[in-house]
Amino acid sequence: MNIGCHGLVWTGTFDAEGIRRAVEKTAQAGFDLIEFPLMDPFSFDVTAAKDALAEHGLAVSASLGLSEATDITSADPAVVAAGEALLIRAVDVLAELGGEHFCGVIYSAMRKYMEPATPEGVASSRAVVGRVADHAAARGVRVALEVVNRYETNVLNTGRQALAYLAEVDRPNLGVHLDTYHMNIEESDMFQPVLDTSALLQYVHIGESHRGYLGTGSVDFDTFFKALGRIGYGGPIVFESFSSAVVAEDLSRMLGIWRNLWTDGDELGAHANRFIRDRLIAVDSIRLH
Ligand code: MN
Repeated sequence: MNIGCHGLVWTGTFDAEGIRRAVEKTAQAGFDLIEFPLMDPFSFDVTAAKDALAEHGLAVSASLGLSEATDITSADPAVVAAGEALLIRAVDVLAELGGEHFCGVIYSAMRKYMEPATPEGVASSRAVVGRVADHAAARGVRVALEVVNRYETNVLNTGRQALAYLAEVDRPNLGVHLDTYHMNIEESDMFQPVLDTSALLQYVHIGESHRGYLGTGSVDFDTFFKALGRIGYGGPIVFESFSSAVVAEDLSRMLGIWRNLWTDGDELGAHANRFIRDRLIAVDSIRLH
């Protein structure tokens, strides 16, 4: 099992220098894996990332949120095509880096919609996601759809919605990505969605209710980790935290990161790494009860 950290904990700029810094800091904080935000996979410096990952011995994953210009639920075929091209390029970048998990809000734009998703929009999304999953499968990459809150998509807000979506686009490498920050807003509790999605759960984000220090908000992490233990979850568990101390122009604005919840990323990352590993150790002992 890989315990990971989102790159935006360390830098908002993913040029060669930012990539090197994020990889070094992630390794120093004790994590096994870095998740790169591939908001623009066409400009991502694959060579710099490859070298940094090799130097620090880190595993890698990638995520992104589509924009209005690349929304695959759009009624405009040109926008859908741009979204599919971006997703395909992101999979290729991740495969070149040796990563096995591609995730995020990759089935719609990541934004506040002012209207519900249309059946046509969801059908378009399913068709593209199916093709992206097939492209990924040929490269040894798994694809997981991140279930997020109502202010960041109008398609998948709960685990059950993800199951319904996936029932009609069935691919062996396609699954669900749960995030505790979003679950805390939309789900009934932190246990049942993990059980409901267990057969398809491929990726997990650990975030606090305000996206700051773990354990200082309202997310019921003890219950969530018990649920992961109950289903024998073995996929990546990746820490996400965002503060106005580190700003990525595209991502931070979209996520509404207006406040400074921490200043020292080194301490925050090391704390999160311990927090996650401590809970996994504790939960593993439940089998002895
Ligand atoms: Mn997330």
